[in-house]
Amino acid sequence: MKKAIVIILSLVLALSMFAACTKSGGDPSPSENAPAENTTAADVPAWKTIGEALAAEKDESSEQSAIYAKVFVYVFEKDGTYWRLTAELSDEESAALSALDILDEDYAEKEKALITPLAVTKCESLNELKLSDEDLAALVGKTGKELLDDGWNTGMGYNLDSMEFYWEHGPFAYTVTFEKQEDLENTDDFDETAAVAELKVASVKFDGLGNTCTDISEYFDDEEQDAAIDYLVLVNKQNKLPDDWEETVDLAEGTNSLDETYLVERKALAQFELLRADLLKDGIDIELDSTYRSVKRQQEIWDEFEAEKGLEYAQTYVAVPGYSEHHTGLAIDVCLIKDGVVISDNDDMIAEKEIFAEIHKRLADYGFILRYLEGKEDVTGYGYEPWHFRYIDSPEIAHEIMDGGLTLEEYLGAVPDTTE
Ligand SMILES: [Zn+2]
Repeated sequence: MKKAIVIILSLVLALSMFAACTKSGGDPSPSENAPAENTTAADVPAWKTIGEALAAEKDESSEQSAIYAKVFVYVFEKDGTYWRLTAELSDEESAALSALDILDEDYAEKEKALITPLAVTKCESLNELKLSDEDLAALVGKTGKELLDDGWNTGMGYNLDSMEFYWEHGPFAYTVTFEKQEDLENTDDFDETAAVAELKVASVKFDGLGNTCTDISEYFDDEEQDAAIDYLVLVNKQNKLPDDWEETVDLAEGTNSLDETYLVERKALAQFELLRADLLKDGIDIELDSTYRSVKRQQEIWDEFEAEKGLEYAQTYVAVPGYSEHHTGLAIDVCLIKDGVVISDNDDMIAEKEIFAEIHKRLADYGFILRYLEGKEDVTGYGYEPWHFRYIDSPEIAHEIMDGGLTLEEYLGAVPDTTE
């Protein structure tokens, strides 16, 4: 499954000139100012921050930026060399950038204010990725299908009179001209890919940066993580945590604004930060209050209570080790901060009906559901907990559950038999 990632392409940022980087012409050979690919932070020659790269005078010709969760990428051309700068984002920076509304008329300014202080961690020349004139010439005679098989992406633009098509390969765009074909028509259901598949390429011309400046998969190695855990896992009073869960779940450390640290499953934490930033824009402050708890820790709590107060007491008041959703790392209990005061008492939180209604409305957009619903106590086995959110990864499924007023048990068809 492909990870859903917030991508913001900013095509309109002003291009800067870069006095410190003086590589000239289209020569792809390295020079003292042209770092090789995968340059480490220590070797970055010119731009210590994205702000330095943006600082000098403007040139309208080319510039692109993109945000991939925890990575900000800035691509531009200077004197025939294409550069890609990478900055790693903290959770806060990532949340703040992702919270920007691209339709906001001040979007570019707001983005600039956020990216200016970012430290450049990688500076690469992309020229090695650009095809040479000889490479381009060698493509002549191929078919459209062969180009696609070689990893070219058909773009949005074509001109049937001249048989010119806009195609992309890597971060760059090319104009591909096919041999003349009279009966191609520009109709509403014109299928560009199918139409050109068998056509022969007549010429290929380099065209600068493409619409997507970089391959996102370079920055994420999700496959393992996606395969490792089941985000719809059901853990309740009848269903125990899978045995290998704690070995496979990828936990990350989150910090709340009270400077307390918490372990949460990595993707759940990233999405929670986005949710939190979204709510903060409207003056609602939610903070991490209780998250991952190991089975081992729960056993210790159980043993302490049993030793001190007896088995019956433990059975009544302590969650059975292995049967708490908090073991998954996917459950987050929040507290509220209202007028500078922390609200974490259960009754006080339940009383904040309006605030929680607003929070609950937005949960599904970030892949969360409300886990313990009012009136569904016999299904979930728990009383109403407006503060307990469960990450299930898929916003689509989360909407189905939240919009339908369902519990996870109902969605999974795993409602416990209460007649026994
Ligand atoms: Zn909870």
